[in-house]
Amino acid sequence: MTALILTYHSINIGGNEYSNNDHVALDMDLRLLAELGWTITPLCAMVDAVVHRKLDPTNKLVALTFDDGSWFDWYDLDHPTHGQQKSMANILRDFSKTNAGRSQPLIEATSFVIASPQARAQLDVTCMVGRGWWGDEWWQQAQHEGVIRVQNHSWDHNHITLDSTAILREKGRFSVVSTYPEADAEIRQAADYLDSICGAGTSTIFAYPYGETSDYLVREYLPNHMSEHRLAAALTTEPEYVTNDSNRWLIPRFVCGCDWKSTEDLRTILQK
Ligand SMILES: [Zn+2]
Repeated sequence: MTALILTYHSINIGGNEYSNNDHVALDMDLRLLAELGWTITPLCAMVDAVVHRKLDPTNKLVALTFDDGSWFDWYDLDHPTHGQQKSMANILRDFSKTNAGRSQPLIEATSFVIASPQARAQLDVTCMVGRGWWGDEWWQQAQHEGVIRVQNHSWDHNHITLDSTAILREKGRFSVVSTYPEADAEIRQAADYLDSICGAGTSTIFAYPYGETSDYLVREYLPNHMSEHRLAAALTTEPEYVTNDSNRWLIPRFVCGCDWKSTEDLRTILQK
């Protein structure tokens, strides 16, 4: 196959090995992608090609995505347990200065961020190290600079560790979104917040929290309320290749740590 999307979580830092640190994995994977002749392409370009069924099967195209959007995407930080961590952005920048990186026409990744400031403040404590490292002060700079583009990962992820969420029920799932008010609160509200910080028209691609879709979102809300949510596509975590037949509301992605756990695993995915 000739197009795919890879997903990393910069908060996955359980050590400093490929298997337990997505920063280490991304760094090694960039070199593998170059070695195997894959071209890094901006996600928005791949999505546009899918929507217009213009994916070129003669190219090997890969889009890079990061989920949840903590400071580990953008800032080098000293992790209290596992030491200094190079940001995903700096891993991309440093790769662009290598011979392999210079052969890439444009090195850009997309970060799917959680919009709600209150949700991020609580997630910073429940899912990270509680140092205030989940702020949105880097979004505008990232959007301007272009190494990482910011996109929509919902208002609050309906995250299981939050005291309250916009959906107000069955926290820890996103497939429960089955009504207009719920979809509007999680998706359109997040789009408005992203656009208010990064500029009108920023939010155009959605990544389903937990990779979970629902019939209501895929068949009703996303196709029929486009003037409200302003999205062109939505990404799952179904581990499949992207083709011109991909449904724009169900574009698949492979996830580091789930669908591949080593460069050898990724090599298998890339050589299928
Ligand atoms: Zn997520």
